[in-house]
Amino acid sequence: MSKVVLKKGREESLLRRHPWVFSGAIAGVEDEPVRGATVEIRANDGRILGRAAWSPHSQISARVWSFDPGEQIDTEFFRRRLVRAFSARRPAQDAWGNGCGRLVYAEADGLPGIVVDRYAGFVVCQFLSAGAEFWRETICGLIAELAPGVSIYERSDADSREKEGLEPRSGLIMGDEPPELVEVDDGRFRFLVDIANGHKTGFYLDQRENRMAAAGLIESLRGSCDVLDCFSYTGSFTVAALAGGASWVTAVESSPHAIETARRNTALNGLDLSRVQFEEENVFVYLRRCRDEGRTFGAVILDPPKFAGSRGMVEAASRGYKDINLLAMKLLSPGGLLVTFSCSQHIGADMFERILAFAAMDAGRDVQIVRHLRQAGDHPVALNFPESAYLKGAACRVW
Ligand code: SAH
Repeated sequence: MSKVVLKKGREESLLRRHPWVFSGAIAGVEDEPVRGATVEIRANDGRILGRAAWSPHSQISARVWSFDPGEQIDTEFFRRRLVRAFSARRPAQDAWGNGCGRLVYAEADGLPGIVVDRYAGFVVCQFLSAGAEFWRETICGLIAELAPGVSIYERSDADSREKEGLEPRSGLIMGDEPPELVEVDDGRFRFLVDIANGHKTGFYLDQRENRMAAAGLIESLRGSCDVLDCFSYTGSFTVAALAGGASWVTAVESSPHAIETARRNTALNGLDLSRVQFEEENVFVYLRRCRDEGRTFGAVILDPPKFAGSRGMVEAASRGYKDINLLAMKLLSPGGLLVTFSCSQHIGADMFERILAFAAMDAGRDVQIVRHLRQAGDHPVALNFPESAYLKGAACRVW
């Protein structure tokens, strides 16, 4: 095993069990480990800090598999980590039926670069780092063993693979080719998921608890409530709003294909399609048009795509978030509900709240946060890896 020696003082983050070793922290590398190979990380004074996967093309040169200097990185290691991750998810693996959820959330589950989601009988994997790629076959073999009977599909087509020097890859690995749309049940609602072409691994599993919260909050408004669901994708919040008793939902989304699935999802849940207006439109334009026409809503949902993909994009992204939130606040009738999110990892919860505060100020409205919203519990936040917290949101009462 090659040794990677860090510069003096650069062992601090690893002692706090943060799993990333940046290229700038490295003093020297013994031999020339191949991409994805297991290396031993040493402090400058020779102390062994852990074993990691080597990624020569990335600024993150190594991702630690284990901080235990004696732990072998082999099939048994991955079996232990996968069993731990699977066992923390509900329900028991063999009782999933049409269930869906995240089984493995990368660094937060001690498996850097590896994401495993389940949609009924299909397991969808992403191998996003050199180390994950190196152990791909081992991991697929273990998934087949731990979740017998499932089909395994790969969606390693996220942009982050490029930074690791890896080509995008997607397609069937094991079992049956998924149908165009797979029906899943998230515990309360049913959805059709496009595993091969949908966003991420097909669906926004991370919003599961927030959909339920939105349904409950809309229900608590009582009386007739006109809801505007912005960035509606395949209609998960539209379904939640209708189930919560919305009298009317306007769903705004730029992708016609997503809107078609949103229609089907509405019907699939036995909800009244005549209470939904789907608008294929740019949200930024649509919100302005509503403002100019003097329209008002009882609730507005804002679940935009990631505006800040990197640290350098934070300022422009903040302006984008402020813009849509300010417009949404103006459209709400007094006492109305704003359910708003940011999934940009580089915009922290504090910063997001400051953006909302500035939006409220400029909108001239009194705004109270009535509930903080976060990513679902099957996307856990590891305390040694704060980067695992990315989805933040707030349900606000707007006066
Ligand atoms: N709320 C959805 C997820 C939203 S993902 C859910 O719960 O499933 C963001 C969506 O916004 C994507 O479907 C994308 O196609 C759409 N989108 C991105 N930019 C847009 C824009 N400017 N106007 C309208 N839709 C946009």
